[in-house]
Amino acid sequence: MSEKTIFKRIIDGEIPADIVHDDERCMAFRDVNPQAPTHILVIPKKEIPSIDHIADEDQMLIGHLWKVIRDIARAEDLGDGYRVIVNCGQQGGQTVDHLHFHLLGGRSLSWPPG
Ligand code: AMP
Repeated sequence: MSEKTIFKRIIDGEIPADIVHDDERCMAFRDVNPQAPTHILVIPKKEIPSIDHIADEDQMLIGHLWKVIRDIARAEDLGDGYRVIVNCGQQGGQTVDHLHFHLLGGRSLSWPPG
């Protein structure tokens, strides 16, 4: 059995996080190294390492994550706009092997990303 990811340890309550949402299928918490005034990570509780590992039967779960992202954006007052980013794999800049959606807002975001 490979070691638990840091996000699985947050799900299991083994390490603390600044949690903004928690339901039976997903969690959201503030990034420890925020890149914008609002920087929240939304993750499924199911251990899916990356976008590449999403199974066909995960479609409802992924739809639920987007609904939660929309609700959090409203709760965080991001009506002026925000960005959702999912890094995938080494070249995509993924550092934690547990699927996560970055929700960034509260400032003007440049394009393209680096
Ligand atoms: P990525 O590079 O897309 O895999 O994003 C991983 C993100 O997880 C980074 O933005 C980190 O700052 C964040 N992160 C790592 N450990 C923690 C933690 N314990 N609590 C909250 N965010 C974390």
